[in-house]
Amino acid sequence: MESLNAGFAPVEHSTGKETATTPCLVCGDSAVAVVLDLGMTAPANNFILPDELARNSERFFPLRLGLCRNCGHVQLVDHVPPKVMFDHYLYMSSASSTLTEHLRDLARTVTKNLNLGPDDLVVDIGCNDGTLLEGFKLAGVGRRIGVDPATNLAAAARSKGAEVMTAYFTPDIAASIRNAHGAAAALTMTNTFPHIPDLPSLLRAVDRLLAEDGALVLEAHYLVDLMEMCAFDTIYHEHVSYWALKPMVRLFKEHGFDVFDIERLPIHHGQIRAWVCRKGKRPISNRVTEALSAEEALGLDSAEPYLQMAAKIQNIKSDLIAMIREVRGRGGRVAGYGAPAKGSTLLSFFGLGPDDLDYIADRNLLKQGRLTPGSHIPVVSPARIFADHPNLVVLFAWNFADEIAQQMSAYLEGGGRIVAPIPEVHEIGGKA
Ligand SMILES: [Zn+2]
Repeated sequence: MESLNAGFAPVEHSTGKETATTPCLVCGDSAVAVVLDLGMTAPANNFILPDELARNSERFFPLRLGLCRNCGHVQLVDHVPPKVMFDHYLYMSSASSTLTEHLRDLARTVTKNLNLGPDDLVVDIGCNDGTLLEGFKLAGVGRRIGVDPATNLAAAARSKGAEVMTAYFTPDIAASIRNAHGAAAALTMTNTFPHIPDLPSLLRAVDRLLAEDGALVLEAHYLVDLMEMCAFDTIYHEHVSYWALKPMVRLFKEHGFDVFDIERLPIHHGQIRAWVCRKGKRPISNRVTEALSAEEALGLDSAEPYLQMAAKIQNIKSDLIAMIREVRGRGGRVAGYGAPAKGSTLLSFFGLGPDDLDYIADRNLLKQGRLTPGSHIPVVSPARIFADHPNLVVLFAWNFADEIAQQMSAYLEGGGRIVAPIPEVHEIGGKA
Protein backbone atom coordinates (compact mmCIF):
# COMPACT_ATOMS: atom_id res chain seq x y z
CA MET A 1 0.00 0.00 0.00
CA GLU A 2 3.03 2.31 0.01
CA SER A 3 2.29 3.36 -3.55
CA LEU A 4 -0.74 5.31 -2.33
CA ASN A 5 1.56 8.06 -1.15
CA ALA A 6 3.49 8.35 -4.40
CA GLY A 7 2.80 11.63 -6.12
CA PHE A 8 0.65 13.09 -3.38
CA ALA A 9 1.23 16.69 -2.43
CA PRO A 10 3.75 16.86 0.40
CA VAL A 11 2.31 17.74 3.77
CA GLU A 12 3.81 21.14 4.31
CA HIS A 13 1.20 22.97 6.36
CA SER A 14 1.45 23.12 10.08
CA THR A 15 -1.79 21.79 11.47
CA GLY A 16 -1.50 24.31 14.30
CA LYS A 17 -3.07 23.85 17.68
CA GLU A 18 -6.71 23.97 16.69
CA THR A 19 -6.96 21.08 14.27
CA ALA A 20 -6.00 17.49 14.78
CA THR A 21 -5.34 14.83 12.18
CA THR A 22 -7.97 12.19 12.57
CA PRO A 23 -8.13 8.45 12.09
CA CYS A 24 -10.74 7.06 9.69
CA LEU A 25 -14.21 8.09 10.85
CA VAL A 26 -15.70 4.80 9.63
CA CYS A 27 -13.22 2.08 10.60
CA GLY A 28 -10.87 3.89 13.01
CA ASP A 29 -7.74 3.01 11.03
CA SER A 30 -4.96 5.60 11.25
CA ALA A 31 -3.74 4.91 7.70
CA VAL A 32 -5.48 7.88 6.08
CA ALA A 33 -3.41 9.06 3.08
CA VAL A 34 -3.56 12.65 1.81
CA VAL A 35 -4.90 12.55 -1.77
CA LEU A 36 -5.59 16.26 -2.36
CA ASP A 37 -4.17 19.35 -0.64
CA LEU A 38 -6.20 22.56 -1.03
CA GLY A 39 -3.98 24.65 1.25
CA MET A 40 -4.94 26.82 4.22
CA THR A 41 -8.47 28.22 4.00
CA ALA A 42 -10.93 30.06 6.22
CA PRO A 43 -14.09 28.07 7.10
CA ALA A 44 -16.21 28.40 3.97
CA ASN A 45 -19.34 29.80 5.61
CA ASN A 46 -17.57 32.30 7.85
CA PHE A 47 -18.47 35.37 5.82
CA ILE A 48 -16.98 38.23 7.80
CA LEU A 49 -17.98 41.82 8.41
CA PRO A 50 -15.56 44.53 7.24
CA ASP A 51 -14.73 45.46 10.85
CA GLU A 52 -13.79 41.85 11.62
CA LEU A 53 -11.31 42.06 8.76
CA ALA A 54 -9.92 45.25 10.27
CA ARG A 55 -9.46 43.45 13.61
CA ASN A 56 -7.55 40.69 11.78
CA SER A 57 -9.50 38.02 13.67
CA GLU A 58 -10.06 35.64 10.76
CA ARG A 59 -8.80 32.10 11.25
CA PHE A 60 -7.39 29.69 8.67
CA PHE A 61 -7.15 25.89 8.77
CA PRO A 62 -5.55 23.27 6.48
CA LEU A 63 -7.93 21.72 3.94
CA ARG A 64 -6.74 18.27 2.89
CA LEU A 65 -8.63 15.29 1.54
CA GLY A 66 -7.65 11.86 2.82
CA LEU A 67 -8.36 8.29 1.71
CA CYS A 68 -8.52 5.46 4.25
CA ARG A 69 -6.29 2.68 3.02
CA ASN A 70 -8.26 0.14 5.03
CA CYS A 71 -11.94 0.77 4.18
CA GLY A 72 -11.77 3.31 1.34
CA HIS A 73 -13.60 6.10 3.18
CA VAL A 74 -12.74 9.61 1.95
CA GLN A 75 -12.66 12.35 4.59
CA LEU A 76 -10.84 15.48 5.66
CA VAL A 77 -7.48 14.88 7.27
CA ASP A 78 -7.67 17.91 9.57
CA HIS A 79 -10.76 18.58 11.63
CA VAL A 80 -11.82 22.07 12.66
CA PRO A 81 -13.77 22.46 15.93
CA PRO A 82 -17.50 22.52 15.01
CA LYS A 83 -18.05 25.60 17.14
CA VAL A 84 -15.95 27.62 14.70
CA MET A 85 -18.37 26.71 11.91
CA PHE A 86 -21.94 26.05 13.00
CA ASP A 87 -23.09 28.42 15.70
CA HIS A 88 -24.13 31.14 13.29
CA TYR A 89 -24.92 29.50 10.03
CA LEU A 90 -25.58 31.55 6.89
CA TYR A 91 -26.79 28.82 4.56
CA MET A 92 -30.56 28.80 4.23
CA SER A 93 -32.44 26.02 2.43
CA SER A 94 -35.20 28.39 1.35
CA ALA A 95 -32.73 30.75 -0.39
CA SER A 96 -32.95 28.60 -3.53
CA SER A 97 -36.28 27.77 -5.15
CA THR A 98 -34.72 24.64 -6.74
CA LEU A 99 -33.74 23.40 -3.29
CA THR A 100 -37.09 24.27 -1.73
CA GLU A 101 -38.87 22.24 -4.42
CA HIS A 102 -36.41 19.37 -3.94
CA LEU A 103 -37.14 19.26 -0.20
CA ARG A 104 -40.90 19.38 -0.80
CA ASP A 105 -40.51 16.40 -3.12
CA LEU A 106 -38.40 14.52 -0.57
CA ALA A 107 -41.09 15.06 2.08
CA ARG A 108 -43.77 13.72 -0.26
CA THR A 109 -41.63 10.68 -1.20
CA VAL A 110 -40.78 9.75 2.39
CA THR A 111 -44.39 10.24 3.50
CA LYS A 112 -45.66 8.00 0.69
CA ASN A 113 -43.00 5.26 0.86
CA LEU A 114 -43.19 4.92 4.64
CA ASN A 115 -46.94 5.46 4.71
CA LEU A 116 -46.76 8.29 7.25
CA GLY A 117 -49.81 10.06 8.61
CA PRO A 118 -51.22 12.48 11.20
CA ASP A 119 -50.08 10.41 14.20
CA ASP A 120 -46.50 9.85 13.04
CA LEU A 121 -43.40 11.65 14.23
CA VAL A 122 -40.67 12.82 11.84
CA VAL A 123 -37.42 14.23 13.19
CA ASP A 124 -35.19 16.21 10.83
CA ILE A 125 -31.57 16.18 11.96
CA GLY A 126 -29.93 19.46 10.91
CA CYS A 127 -33.28 21.06 10.11
CA ASN A 128 -31.76 24.37 8.94
CA ASP A 129 -34.59 26.89 8.41
CA GLY A 130 -37.33 24.25 8.54
CA THR A 131 -37.99 23.96 4.81
CA LEU A 132 -38.09 20.14 4.81
CA LEU A 133 -40.27 20.01 7.93
CA GLU A 134 -42.68 22.42 6.28
CA GLY A 135 -42.83 19.92 3.40
CA PHE A 136 -43.82 17.16 5.86
CA LYS A 137 -46.51 19.43 7.26
CA LEU A 138 -47.89 19.96 3.74
CA ALA A 139 -47.69 16.20 3.14
CA GLY A 140 -49.87 15.55 6.19
CA VAL A 141 -47.36 14.27 8.75
CA GLY A 142 -48.78 15.19 12.13
CA ARG A 143 -45.76 15.64 14.37
CA ARG A 144 -42.49 17.28 13.31
CA ILE A 145 -39.37 18.09 15.30
CA GLY A 146 -36.17 19.67 14.04
CA VAL A 147 -32.75 19.50 15.67
CA ASP A 148 -30.09 22.01 14.66
CA PRO A 149 -27.29 23.77 16.56
CA ALA A 150 -27.60 27.01 14.54
CA THR A 151 -29.30 29.45 16.89
CA ASN A 152 -29.97 32.00 14.17
CA LEU A 153 -32.09 29.61 12.07
CA ALA A 154 -34.35 28.19 14.78
CA ALA A 155 -36.79 31.11 14.67
CA ALA A 156 -37.24 30.68 10.92
CA ALA A 157 -37.89 26.96 11.38
CA ARG A 158 -40.41 27.58 14.19
CA SER A 159 -42.27 30.08 12.05
CA LYS A 160 -42.84 27.22 9.56
CA GLY A 161 -44.71 25.23 12.19
CA ALA A 162 -42.05 22.87 13.57
CA GLU A 163 -40.84 22.26 17.08
CA VAL A 164 -37.09 22.99 17.10
CA MET A 165 -34.35 21.96 19.50
CA THR A 166 -31.22 24.09 19.26
CA ALA A 167 -28.70 21.31 19.81
CA TYR A 168 -26.48 18.71 18.21
CA PHE A 169 -28.20 15.36 17.67
CA THR A 170 -26.56 13.38 20.47
CA PRO A 171 -27.76 10.12 22.08
CA ASP A 172 -29.00 12.16 25.06
CA ILE A 173 -31.02 14.52 22.87
CA ALA A 174 -32.43 11.52 20.97
CA ALA A 175 -33.45 9.87 24.25
CA SER A 176 -35.13 13.03 25.50
CA ILE A 177 -37.16 13.33 22.28
CA ARG A 178 -38.22 9.70 22.59
CA ASN A 179 -39.22 10.14 26.23
CA ALA A 180 -41.33 13.15 25.41
CA HIS A 181 -42.81 12.14 22.05
CA GLY A 182 -42.25 8.40 21.47
CA ALA A 183 -40.24 6.75 18.68
CA ALA A 184 -39.83 8.41 15.29
CA ALA A 185 -41.32 6.73 12.22
CA ALA A 186 -38.81 8.59 10.07
CA LEU A 187 -35.55 10.41 10.62
CA THR A 188 -34.20 12.65 7.86
CA MET A 189 -30.81 14.19 7.27
CA THR A 190 -30.23 16.31 4.19
CA ASN A 191 -26.66 17.52 3.83
CA THR A 192 -26.06 16.92 7.52
CA PHE A 193 -24.52 13.46 7.33
CA PRO A 194 -21.24 14.64 5.70
CA HIS A 195 -20.85 17.16 8.53
CA ILE A 196 -20.72 14.68 11.39
CA PRO A 197 -17.31 13.63 12.71
CA ASP A 198 -18.56 11.34 15.49
CA LEU A 199 -20.45 8.72 13.50
CA PRO A 200 -20.75 6.11 16.31
CA SER A 201 -22.46 8.75 18.47
CA LEU A 202 -24.83 9.62 15.63
CA LEU A 203 -25.77 5.98 15.15
CA ARG A 204 -26.36 5.47 18.88
CA ALA A 205 -28.67 8.48 18.73
CA VAL A 206 -30.51 7.05 15.70
CA ASP A 207 -30.82 3.73 17.54
CA ARG A 208 -32.43 5.43 20.54
CA LEU A 209 -35.02 7.35 18.55
CA LEU A 210 -35.95 5.30 15.47
CA ALA A 211 -39.06 3.10 15.65
CA GLU A 212 -38.52 -0.65 15.11
CA ASP A 213 -39.96 -0.49 11.59
CA GLY A 214 -38.93 3.12 10.94
CA ALA A 215 -36.40 4.41 8.43
CA LEU A 216 -33.61 6.93 8.33
CA VAL A 217 -33.47 8.75 5.01
CA LEU A 218 -30.29 10.68 4.34
CA GLU A 219 -28.95 12.68 1.46
CA ALA A 220 -25.30 13.45 0.94
CA HIS A 221 -22.98 14.54 -1.81
CA TYR A 222 -21.94 11.39 -3.62
CA LEU A 223 -18.22 10.81 -4.10
CA VAL A 224 -18.78 9.28 -7.55
CA ASP A 225 -20.44 12.51 -8.73
CA LEU A 226 -17.83 14.69 -7.06
CA MET A 227 -15.09 12.89 -8.98
CA GLU A 228 -16.98 12.85 -12.29
CA MET A 229 -17.91 16.55 -12.02
CA CYS A 230 -14.51 17.58 -10.65
CA ALA A 231 -16.54 19.33 -7.94
CA PHE A 232 -13.51 19.94 -5.75
CA ASP A 233 -15.04 23.18 -4.49
CA THR A 234 -17.58 21.16 -2.49
CA ILE A 235 -14.63 20.15 -0.31
CA TYR A 236 -14.63 22.43 2.73
CA HIS A 237 -14.18 22.10 6.46
CA GLU A 238 -17.83 21.54 7.28
CA HIS A 239 -17.90 18.45 5.08
CA VAL A 240 -15.76 16.04 7.03
CA SER A 241 -16.84 13.01 4.94
CA TYR A 242 -17.21 12.48 1.17
CA TRP A 243 -19.47 9.47 0.94
CA ALA A 244 -19.20 6.53 -1.35
CA LEU A 245 -21.71 3.74 -0.74
CA LYS A 246 -19.21 1.06 0.25
CA PRO A 247 -17.99 2.66 3.50
CA MET A 248 -21.55 3.83 4.23
CA VAL A 249 -22.89 0.28 4.05
CA ARG A 250 -20.07 -0.90 6.28
CA LEU A 251 -20.70 1.81 8.86
CA PHE A 252 -24.41 1.08 9.17
CA LYS A 253 -23.93 -2.69 9.22
CA GLU A 254 -21.50 -2.41 12.14
CA HIS A 255 -24.15 -0.53 14.12
CA GLY A 256 -27.09 -2.83 13.41
CA PHE A 257 -28.60 -1.16 10.34
CA ASP A 258 -29.01 -1.96 6.63
CA VAL A 259 -28.85 0.48 3.72
CA PHE A 260 -31.86 -1.06 1.97
CA ASP A 261 -32.21 1.27 -0.99
CA ILE A 262 -30.48 4.18 -2.69
CA GLU A 263 -31.30 6.77 -5.32
CA ARG A 264 -29.00 9.07 -7.21
CA LEU A 265 -30.27 12.63 -7.45
CA PRO A 266 -29.33 15.51 -9.77
CA ILE A 267 -29.63 18.17 -7.03
CA HIS A 268 -26.44 20.11 -6.21
CA HIS A 269 -23.73 18.35 -8.18
CA GLY A 270 -25.22 14.90 -7.73
CA GLN A 271 -26.27 13.35 -4.49
CA ILE A 272 -27.02 9.95 -3.08
CA ARG A 273 -30.20 9.37 -1.10
CA ALA A 274 -29.84 6.36 1.17
CA TRP A 275 -32.73 4.57 2.91
CA VAL A 276 -31.65 2.87 6.14
CA CYS A 277 -33.59 0.48 8.40
CA ARG A 278 -32.81 -1.76 11.33
CA LYS A 279 -30.95 -4.88 10.23
CA GLY A 280 -33.09 -7.43 8.40
CA LYS A 281 -36.32 -5.38 8.52
CA ARG A 282 -36.58 -4.79 4.76
CA PRO A 283 -35.31 -6.45 1.57
CA ILE A 284 -32.20 -4.88 0.06
CA SER A 285 -32.73 -3.34 -3.36
CA ASN A 286 -30.70 -4.31 -6.43
CA ARG A 287 -29.81 -0.65 -6.72
CA VAL A 288 -27.54 -1.03 -3.68
CA THR A 289 -25.57 -3.97 -5.08
CA GLU A 290 -25.33 -2.37 -8.52
CA ALA A 291 -23.93 0.87 -7.11
CA LEU A 292 -21.37 -1.04 -5.06
CA SER A 293 -20.15 -2.82 -8.21
CA ALA A 294 -19.94 0.47 -10.10
CA GLU A 295 -17.83 2.02 -7.33
CA GLU A 296 -15.50 -0.95 -7.43
CA ALA A 297 -15.01 -0.50 -11.20
CA LEU A 298 -14.11 3.18 -10.73
CA GLY A 299 -11.24 2.34 -8.37
CA LEU A 300 -12.30 4.93 -5.81
CA ASP A 301 -10.21 3.31 -3.10
CA SER A 302 -6.99 3.80 -5.07
CA ALA A 303 -5.03 7.03 -5.50
CA GLU A 304 -5.30 7.29 -9.28
CA PRO A 305 -8.72 9.04 -9.65
CA TYR A 306 -7.70 11.71 -7.13
CA LEU A 307 -4.46 12.46 -8.96
CA GLN A 308 -6.43 12.81 -12.19
CA MET A 309 -8.81 15.20 -10.47
CA ALA A 310 -5.90 17.30 -9.17
CA ALA A 311 -4.68 17.76 -12.76
CA LYS A 312 -8.18 18.84 -13.89
CA ILE A 313 -8.38 21.36 -11.03
CA GLN A 314 -5.14 22.97 -12.26
CA ASN A 315 -6.65 23.30 -15.75
CA ILE A 316 -9.78 24.98 -14.37
CA LYS A 317 -7.61 27.36 -12.37
CA SER A 318 -5.47 28.45 -15.31
CA ASP A 319 -8.47 28.77 -17.67
CA LEU A 320 -10.53 30.85 -15.25
CA ILE A 321 -7.67 33.15 -14.27
CA ALA A 322 -6.77 33.68 -17.95
CA MET A 323 -10.38 34.62 -18.75
CA ILE A 324 -10.63 37.09 -15.86
CA ARG A 325 -7.29 38.70 -16.73
CA GLU A 326 -8.24 38.99 -20.37
CA VAL A 327 -11.42 40.93 -19.50
CA ARG A 328 -9.70 43.11 -16.91
CA GLY A 329 -6.76 43.72 -19.25
CA ARG A 330 -9.18 45.37 -21.66
CA GLY A 331 -10.45 47.58 -18.84
CA GLY A 332 -13.54 45.41 -18.32
CA ARG A 333 -15.19 44.59 -15.02
CA VAL A 334 -15.68 41.13 -13.53
CA ALA A 335 -18.16 40.14 -10.81
CA GLY A 336 -19.36 36.90 -9.28
CA TYR A 337 -22.84 35.47 -8.85
CA GLY A 338 -23.72 33.27 -5.91
CA ALA A 339 -21.69 33.14 -2.71
CA PRO A 340 -22.16 29.52 -1.63
CA ALA A 341 -19.64 27.89 0.68
CA LYS A 342 -18.09 26.09 -2.27
CA GLY A 343 -17.26 29.46 -3.83
CA SER A 344 -15.09 30.10 -0.79
CA THR A 345 -13.02 26.98 -1.48
CA LEU A 346 -12.61 27.88 -5.13
CA LEU A 347 -11.67 31.51 -4.49
CA SER A 348 -9.15 30.58 -1.81
CA PHE A 349 -7.51 27.78 -3.74
CA PHE A 350 -7.29 29.87 -6.92
CA GLY A 351 -5.98 32.89 -4.98
CA LEU A 352 -8.72 35.19 -6.33
CA GLY A 353 -9.64 38.38 -4.45
CA PRO A 354 -11.11 41.88 -4.78
CA ASP A 355 -8.51 42.77 -7.42
CA ASP A 356 -10.02 40.08 -9.66
CA LEU A 357 -13.75 40.29 -8.85
CA ASP A 358 -15.32 43.63 -7.88
CA TYR A 359 -18.09 41.94 -5.90
CA ILE A 360 -20.22 38.81 -5.68
CA ALA A 361 -23.99 39.05 -5.86
CA ASP A 362 -26.11 36.74 -3.72
CA ARG A 363 -29.81 36.73 -2.83
CA ASN A 364 -29.10 35.61 0.74
CA LEU A 365 -29.65 38.72 2.88
CA LEU A 366 -27.54 37.19 5.66
CA LYS A 367 -24.48 37.30 3.41
CA GLN A 368 -24.97 40.74 1.85
CA GLY A 369 -22.73 43.38 3.42
CA ARG A 370 -20.16 40.76 4.38
CA LEU A 371 -16.89 39.65 2.76
CA THR A 372 -16.13 36.19 1.37
CA PRO A 373 -14.03 34.14 3.84
CA GLY A 374 -10.31 34.41 3.22
CA SER A 375 -10.69 36.07 -0.19
CA HIS A 376 -12.50 39.23 1.12
CA ILE A 377 -14.69 40.01 -1.87
CA PRO A 378 -17.78 42.09 -0.93
CA VAL A 379 -21.15 40.29 -1.16
CA VAL A 380 -23.91 42.52 -2.52
CA SER A 381 -27.52 42.31 -3.72
CA PRO A 382 -28.10 40.85 -7.22
CA ALA A 383 -29.63 44.23 -8.15
CA ARG A 384 -26.07 45.53 -8.45
CA ILE A 385 -25.40 43.35 -11.51
CA PHE A 386 -28.40 44.75 -13.35
CA ALA A 387 -27.43 48.28 -12.32
CA ASP A 388 -23.85 48.28 -13.50
CA HIS A 389 -23.67 45.41 -15.99
CA PRO A 390 -20.18 43.92 -15.51
CA ASN A 391 -18.53 42.46 -18.62
CA LEU A 392 -18.14 39.00 -17.13
CA VAL A 393 -19.91 37.19 -14.30
CA VAL A 394 -18.38 34.08 -12.72
CA LEU A 395 -21.06 31.74 -11.44
CA PHE A 396 -19.99 30.15 -8.16
CA ALA A 397 -23.41 28.57 -7.50
CA TRP A 398 -22.90 26.53 -10.67
CA ASN A 399 -25.14 23.72 -9.40
CA PHE A 400 -28.12 26.06 -9.84
CA ALA A 401 -27.04 27.24 -13.32
CA ASP A 402 -30.47 26.85 -14.94
CA GLU A 403 -32.30 28.69 -12.17
CA ILE A 404 -29.73 31.48 -12.19
CA ALA A 405 -29.58 31.82 -15.99
CA GLN A 406 -33.32 32.54 -15.78
CA GLN A 407 -32.89 35.09 -13.00
CA MET A 408 -30.14 36.70 -15.04
CA SER A 409 -31.89 36.71 -18.42
CA ALA A 410 -32.02 40.51 -18.59
CA TYR A 411 -28.26 40.70 -18.02
CA LEU A 412 -27.59 38.01 -20.64
CA GLU A 413 -29.93 39.66 -23.17
CA GLY A 414 -28.06 42.91 -22.64
CA GLY A 415 -24.86 41.22 -23.88
CA GLY A 416 -23.56 39.98 -20.53
CA ARG A 417 -21.46 36.83 -20.23
CA ILE A 418 -21.74 34.24 -17.46
CA VAL A 419 -19.14 31.51 -17.00
CA ALA A 420 -19.39 28.49 -14.73
CA PRO A 421 -16.09 27.00 -13.53
CA ILE A 422 -17.19 23.37 -12.98
CA PRO A 423 -16.72 20.72 -14.39
CA GLU A 424 -14.61 22.91 -16.69
CA VAL A 425 -14.76 26.62 -17.47
CA HIS A 426 -17.73 27.15 -19.81
CA GLU A 427 -20.26 29.86 -20.74
CA ILE A 428 -23.88 29.39 -19.81
CA GLY A 429 -27.07 30.89 -21.25
CA GLY A 430 -26.49 33.88 -23.53
CA LYS A 431 -26.09 33.88 -27.24
CA ALA A 432 -26.11 30.16 -28.01
ZN1 LIG B 1 -11.45 3.38 7.16
